[in-house]
Amino acid sequence: MARPLKNLCEVAVIGGGLAGLSAARHAARLGRLVTLFESSGIYGGQLATVDHVDGLPVPGAFSGQDLAIDLLEQCRKVGVQVIEAQIDKLDAGERLVLTDWEGQAHTPEAVIVASGATLRKLGVPGEEQFTGRGVSRCASCDGGFYRDMDVVVVGGGDAAVHEALVLARMSRIVIMVCRSPLKASREYINRLDARENVRFVWDSEVVEVLGEMKVSGVRLHNVVSGAESEIAASGVFPFIGVEPNTMFLPAAMREASGHMVSRDPRIIAVGAVRADYGGMAVQAMAEGVDAAQAAHMMLRNGA
Ligand SMILES: Cc1cc2nc3c(=O)[nH]c(=O)nc-3n(C[C@H](O)[C@H](O)[C@H](O)COP(=O)(O)OP(=O)(O)OC[C@H]3O[C@@H](n4cnc5c(N)ncnc54)[C@H](O)[C@@H]3O)c2cc1C
Repeated sequence: MARPLKNLCEVAVIGGGLAGLSAARHAARLGRLVTLFESSGIYGGQLATVDHVDGLPVPGAFSGQDLAIDLLEQCRKVGVQVIEAQIDKLDAGERLVLTDWEGQAHTPEAVIVASGATLRKLGVPGEEQFTGRGVSRCASCDGGFYRDMDVVVVGGGDAAVHEALVLARMSRIVIMVCRSPLKASREYINRLDARENVRFVWDSEVVEVLGEMKVSGVRLHNVVSGAESEIAASGVFPFIGVEPNTMFLPAAMREASGHMVSRDPRIIAVGAVRADYGGMAVQAMAEGVDAAQAAHMMLRNGA
């Protein structure tokens, strides 16, 4: 009797950010048949629009696209099958079944979930209305539109400060609206201190994006005094954290925070989809490589 065909998708990787690309490349280099799924058609995830990636332990300057495109090419060279599709469902029964947005089922033997996270929305009036007309989540893409104008950056973590530093090179004044003290790394805070055109509004959150045809400012609520105020600005850049992309997972694999947790050795979470992920691209890449190794060993040992 003919031997059954080898499963053409031994290892499925969900997500074409740096964690997923690194995992897919490494699993293929270990000889596995790998399929990578990316829903957006753009590779690099949250870094796709970052023009200078900080914190890489290598000399030279790289954009998120430099890194992603190089990794994608390497994936293709080692035989990774890349499918531009969103995974809508993961069933973790006796067999693993992934269902993509066209209803197509895939049956890998191991799954590396690298679906990352999406920037959180402010969820206030005016945000949706003015997206693309003053509200932006990409300083390097849109910062040029606000040359010599005043802009607001909302948030105080690494991403907010990273983007504020980009905007500070072009805009007249960058106003950072922070609900609590800055959480960004010391290096970022020092770089911010060195800029003369960055101002801070503390203990405050944005409750409305103001404007008529385009953004004219924001309404603020002071979380300590309860006072409301308005500031004028032409652009608003919200960076108030991220939401993990886990809606396609079974409920048992989602923590209350929305992050992924897996007790099934066939399903491994890497990068920003995990609660205790360190937050740096280099960590996402390292986790991807580790997960590929773990999946390879599991398949080799027939688990
Ligand atoms: C503005 C900003 C600047 C940053 N700057 C730096 C920096 O300078 N240095 C640094 O080290 N880090 C930086 N970071 C952090 C870094 O971007 C993240 O740590 C890293 O991108 C996480 O990688 P990831 O692959 O885990 O997830 P993500 O980058 O979130 O990628 C996840 C991918 O999965 C895809 N996906 C999601 N759901 C599905 C699905 N169901 N099916 C298929 N595909 C799916 C998404 O489209 C996305 O491409 C920055 C982050 C931001 C927001």
